[in-house]
Amino acid sequence: MPYAYFWGCFIPARFPFLEKSTRVVLGNLGVDVGDLDGFTCCPETSVLKPAEERTWLLAAARNLAIAETRGLDLVTPCNGCYLTLKTVAAKLSADAAALAQVNQALQRVGLELNGRIRVYHLIEFLHDVVGVTTIRSAVTKPLTDLRIAVHYGCHMLRPSSAIGFDDARHPTKFDNLVRALGAVSEEYDTKLMCCGGALSPVGSAEEAAAMARMKLVELKSRKVDAMTLSCPNCLMQYDVNQFQMLRRGEQLGVPVLYYTELLGLAMGLEPEELGVSMHKVGVEPFLAAFAALHGGAPQLPHLDMGAVQRCAECGACVHDCPVVRVDDGFNPNTVMKRLALGDVDALLTSPDIWKCVDCYVCAELCPQNFGMDKAFEVLRAEAQARGIRPSGTAAQLAAFAKAGRLSEVAEGPRRKLGLPPGPKSAIDDLRVLLADSAE
Ligand code: SF4
Ligand code: SF4
Ligand code: SF4
Repeated sequence: MPYAYFWGCFIPARFPFLEKSTRVVLGNLGVDVGDLDGFTCCPETSVLKPAEERTWLLAAARNLAIAETRGLDLVTPCNGCYLTLKTVAAKLSADAAALAQVNQALQRVGLELNGRIRVYHLIEFLHDVVGVTTIRSAVTKPLTDLRIAVHYGCHMLRPSSAIGFDDARHPTKFDNLVRALGAVSEEYDTKLMCCGGALSPVGSAEEAAAMARMKLVELKSRKVDAMTLSCPNCLMQYDVNQFQMLRRGEQLGVPVLYYTELLGLAMGLEPEELGVSMHKVGVEPFLAAFAALHGGAPQLPHLDMGAVQRCAECGACVHDCPVVRVDDGFNPNTVMKRLALGDVDALLTSPDIWKCVDCYVCAELCPQNFGMDKAFEVLRAEAQARGIRPSGTAAQLAAFAKAGRLSEVAEGPRRKLGLPPGPKSAIDDLRVLLADSAE
């Protein structure tokens, strides 16, 4: 186990799917990165350092010493952890007196720090240790010509005196990793701009959202296929904040993916294996573009997939659906999400597509002038076209084909009630009519 993960607090607490894609992808690359017990928060530099610098220094030094005791370099997928651990390591390696003081304290918990291990950002690790060539050769489903906007985030690059992973003003390494997947790394004006996440906890949430929005607006105007990053705080800014903008009515529509998610897809892993369905802003448009490159998800004619995507993200009317009220296992929003992900073949065999009763409640309520009934109708039509239908529906179709009606007239009860014979079905006319219309 030559390397150990340092996850920090944010990923396990808020974004475990980022841990999932990282573990799955590195495992599939055959890279041995293990886990260590005993870490605390890195701790967060912007919060702890100004308030309690000694606590910040000792806690970070303790984290480093735990890894050093085991002879393991650290790999972190968090810009914040990277900043803290690299800054403290750099400070202590340049200041022998400070290191001696830290070690005096570390002795009390049986640890010692000598600066013998390295701290890698996950992106740095993939680029410098795993290597671009290895990554390129692991790609089985390239992201050919998809336009991906890299967001480095400040603390993957700056302060360069402590970080030193790439040229802080003209970085290229993350872009190289994107190109290794076959994608185009989009150049854009706000590329090196901060995500603004640190403004939120100091009472400036609006400014934090405004900063995130600037980049998203530019990427929307450039019509990129996705943004990629590798920091949970940045993801919070661009995914969660973007979702809040969507709820306020602003549709920016920029899918935001961790690099390990892109890499996993390019390695041929399924979206479900990577946990990509757990983003706040759906990544389905990106997945659809990706699927189209590789044989593609089955296309459903007459269905506005943009509307399906918005519906999948919305879900506002789900609890107005009468079927949801009586069937715990049915959630039409789940069907919309799967449809938006391109999971059409599996959906066509799902009993759920037959559970929409066409009550049109959702259509009447929908502020987007959509209604889930439209998607259910198309799914059922496609299923029928492939000969997939419930037995009750099959029996009704057979009855209609045979007699032009769904059930026989109940002549006996009619006679008892003194009613005239039931109307004859004009099945012969119907056959002529249908034969004509088929020509
Ligand atoms: S940077 Fe943030 S997420 Fe990472 S360990 Fe520190 S506080 Fe936790
Ligand atoms: S039309 Fe279908 S999905 Fe919409 S509310 Fe009625 S049963 Fe539910
Ligand atoms: S049908 Fe309309 S209101 Fe209901 S979830 Fe879809 S988009 Fe939202």
